[in-house]
Amino acid sequence: MNYVFSSGGGVQSTACLVLAAQGKIPYDTFIFSNVGDKAESPATIRYLEEVTKPYAKKHGIEWIDVAWIDRQGKQRDLYDDLIEQQRSINIPVFMPGGMPGNRKCTEAFKIKPIAKWIKNNAPGCTLGKGISTDEPHRATPSRESDGYTSAYPLIELGYSRSDCLIIAKDAGLPQPPKSSCWFCPFKTTDQWVTMRRERNELFEQAVKLERILQDRRQQLGKDPVYLSSIGGRKGTNLVDVIPEQLGLFGWEPEEGCESGYCMT
Ligand code: SF4
Repeated sequence: MNYVFSSGGGVQSTACLVLAAQGKIPYDTFIFSNVGDKAESPATIRYLEEVTKPYAKKHGIEWIDVAWIDRQGKQRDLYDDLIEQQRSINIPVFMPGGMPGNRKCTEAFKIKPIAKWIKNNAPGCTLGKGISTDEPHRATPSRESDGYTSAYPLIELGYSRSDCLIIAKDAGLPQPPKSSCWFCPFKTTDQWVTMRRERNELFEQAVKLERILQDRRQQLGKDPVYLSSIGGRKGTNLVDVIPEQLGLFGWEPEEGCESGYCMT
C-alpha cells in the first residue's frame, strides 16, 4: 500500500517528516500544495526551501510540490485571485456579526490538486495529515469519493502540537513557523496581534487587502466583510481592532481549517 503525507509546511507536518525519516511512521512521499508564493506565509516558504526539502532529500523521502494549474497551464495564486475576482471572495472572511462566509480556497488550492496527483500517481493510497491531539475535531473521516483513506499518525501516536515542536527540535531543526496564508481569516486575535508586532509589513498588506475587499463589496451594494473574527463581531477593520500588545483577549478557539489540509 502507498503511504503519502499531505504536508501543510508547518509544525505538525515537520514533526511527521522527522517521524517518517526515523521510520516511526510509514510515509515515504510528502506532498505540498502551494497556494501561490504571494499568498503563502513568507516564513513557511523560506522554511520549506531551506530546511524541510533538504531534510527530506537527505533522508530519502520524496517531496512533491503541486498547485492549482488552470486550463491555460498557468499556476494560480490565491492572492492574485482575491485581487482579480470581482464578485466572489473565496477565503473565509467574516460577515458583520461575526459569521464566517463561504470559502472555496482550501478545496481549489489544496484538496483538488492533491486529489488529482493521487489519482494519477497513487490511487487508493493512505493519505496522512498532520492533525495533533489538541485538535481532534479536524480529523475528519474519508469519503468514498476521495480516492484515498485519510490517516492521522500524530493522533494515533498521541502527539500534541507541543510534542511536535520537541520532535523537530530534537532532530536538530529550527522551529517551524505556523503555516497558513498570511491573510487567512482563521487566525485568532492574538495571532493577528503577533503579526502586527512582529511582521508589521504583512499586517499592513492585510489591512490594505481588507479595504480592497470592502470597497468592492460596497460597489456591489453588499455588506462589508472583515479579515478578523473580532472585526466581524465589532464591525471594525483590522487596523482599528487589532492592538499592538498581546494578552488583552480571553481564550478564543482556533477555527482552523476542518479539512486538515491548511495549517498543519
Ligand atoms: S490558510 Fe486560510 S486562506 Fe489559505 S487556503 Fe487555507 S483556509 Fe484558505
